[in-house]
Amino acid sequence: MQLQMPERVRQALDTLHGAGFEAYLVGGCVRDSLLGIPPHDWDVTTSALPEETASLFAAFPLSRQGEKHGTITVFFPGLPLEITTFRVDGTYSDHRHPDSVHFSRSLRQDLARRDFTVNALAWDGALVDFFGGERDLAQRRIRCVGTPQRRFEEDSLRILRALRFSSVLSFSLEEATGAAVLQCRKMLSGVAAERIASEFMRLLCGKDAVPVLRAYRPVFEVFLPELAPMAGLDQRSPYHQYDVWEHTLHALEQTDADPELRLAVLLHDIGKPPCRSIDRTGRGHFRGHQEAGAVIAERICTRMRLSRQMTEHVTALVRFHDVSVVCGEANVRRWLSRLGPQLYRRLLELNRADTLAHAAPAFRRLPILDQAEQDLEHILREGQCWSLGQLAVNGTDLASLAQGPELGRLLRRLLDEVIDGRCPNERDALLALARRLCA
Ligand code: ATP
Ligand code: MG
Repeated sequence: MQLQMPERVRQALDTLHGAGFEAYLVGGCVRDSLLGIPPHDWDVTTSALPEETASLFAAFPLSRQGEKHGTITVFFPGLPLEITTFRVDGTYSDHRHPDSVHFSRSLRQDLARRDFTVNALAWDGALVDFFGGERDLAQRRIRCVGTPQRRFEEDSLRILRALRFSSVLSFSLEEATGAAVLQCRKMLSGVAAERIASEFMRLLCGKDAVPVLRAYRPVFEVFLPELAPMAGLDQRSPYHQYDVWEHTLHALEQTDADPELRLAVLLHDIGKPPCRSIDRTGRGHFRGHQEAGAVIAERICTRMRLSRQMTEHVTALVRFHDVSVVCGEANVRRWLSRLGPQLYRRLLELNRADTLAHAAPAFRRLPILDQAEQDLEHILREGQCWSLGQLAVNGTDLASLAQGPELGRLLRRLLDEVIDGRCPNERDALLALARRLCA
């Protein structure tokens, strides 16, 4: 069996072998290669000590940032390669970091510290498989190396990594691993928010995000307790056939694998549980759930230490997810000026996914969404004006009429007139209008 790798990677292995060291490809690149997925990065594990690796590759720029943990990064042109010394991890008294890291000359020890059998495969011209990883790959199963509970106690992030790989690769969890994921879930509360967020966002964008979210909801509730009241919350509405949680999962099924959009869909109805009321006829209402949801979504994004842009976008999508889409290019231009094309496109996608997860009576909204999408593309194609930058006059043109904040308000007023179609985006017409407004 052969494994395709970039020439540089092959040379790096040859260099290490030539100096008398063992060196193997390991982890994700071996797993993905065997699955026929092009690896996105290449990791090497070796018997060479970091010092020895560094001197072998001294001709290239190196990073020694990970040296304490045995990793030297060699920057081949266009291809950073992490070369890590065989390692045994010490005890994990904090469930996150090994108390100590010992270098080892044994590949087997290095593979034994790795999380899952499919990630504990090594390759140096032939496959090395001490833990049955090849069989688990063939059967599409995630199985811990060793006793799952012990491995989750050492580093509890592995609980979420198991689910991430299950979602991304469409693998199931082997029985003992799956049981331990549920049983040990509370340990996740000790894991740093950034580590959780990074695994969770990848999970959310995986092919099998929905079945994984459905089957392992209690795990997610450990770091997203706001999800808990969604399950079983009856909407009591002719427009809905599912409870809020199932509705959310059905909407996710309709959504492209874009992190911002997927997270917004997951959270779009997070404001419903605190906003539910039931009227005399027994019908459910959720007044104000969009705004309440935006506040909760912002809190969640901040807690997960997501970027400011991601937080703002997700919050905006949750806040506006329910705005009734009205036809007409003026309306689309108004949304464009508020959100910009990228975020507005996502809002329409969220709207569509949300609609498709309703009951049939709600589907009458779909043609309106189609029309809004067409209008959007038409406006962009024609270069119609929806932003100050596109306006045919600027601040300098109006300086004799207004200054400072007043000038800003005047420009915005002119833009609104253009957006609403009451004034053409032409210099003379705009100047005349400005003079009238300031008279
Ligand atoms: P991908 O790059 O697609 O995320 P990967 O398997 O390469 O997949 P990484 O997070 O890059 O995942 O980790 C590289 C390898 O290091 C893994 O394949 C696994 O062998 C090991 N590993 C990573 N994180 C852990 C962990 N928390 N516990 C044990 N081993 C781990
Ligand atoms: Mg990797």
